Amino acid sequence: MTDNQRINLMANLWPKACRAQGWNSGDRAKRMEVLSAAVGRPLASASQLNNTTDYDAVKRHLGFLADNLAATVETIKPEQGRARRLRATIREQLRCLNVYLTNDAERLLTSSPTKADKYLAEIIRDKFKHASRAQPLTLDDLTDESDIGTTRAGVTYPKPSQLEQVMMALARAIQAKRKAAGDTIHDMKLKAGVYCDCKACCRVRAVVVHVQHGTNPLPPGAVANPQPEEMPDPENEPF
Ligand SMILES: [Zn+2]
Repeated sequence: MTDNQRINLMANLWPKACRAQGWNSGDRAKRMEVLSAAVGRPLASASQLNNTTDYDAVKRHLGFLADNLAATVETIKPEQGRARRLRATIREQLRCLNVYLTNDAERLLTSSPTKADKYLAEIIRDKFKHASRAQPLTLDDLTDESDIGTTRAGVTYPKPSQLEQVMMALARAIQAKRKAAGDTIHDMKLKAGVYCDCKACCRVRAVVVHVQHGTNPLPPGAVANPQPEEMPDPENEPF
């Protein structure tokens, strides 16, 4: 799980489910029993949950237990969990793309990636012809439904969904612009203010969590001082 997911689980989802079910939210054994049931395998610790399918399953299950309609809708339509994740990824892509369509001052003036949004609208118009200028499709209209295509040789294959097509087109545009600017992925993500999962950023976040818990962040034998070029600027860390 990501730190945000863990915090949401422990501070929000689990206590709500406990309130609804009359459980003690401090009962760790109960928590492991419920989380294990949610993912369908025995867990020794919540840290064994992965940040995609497991987290979605836990969220649905706890939402069901808390009788939260918004969360349980995905129990009926599981594909919505994936579509929502793809849209979240695309929104991060737009913030990254915006770095190369604007200057620093423009980005300070507004938090919404306006120029990247226009770029996205062009991609959508381009790819999905039925999206007219009068009635453009938005990110929320695009689906993750995959059609089955057939090659000339008669072999069937899953075609990328609308959301996947847009994500791939944006990824190509971003990569070209990032390379032309001489930025690393880390540089770009810091400028865009999106979560960076490079080694240096993960290490900084891990140290922060350990400091909060009063534990030793460094495994035995670890080098206490990372190489200077790997050290991110803590002032610019997006957490
Ligand atoms: Zn980074």
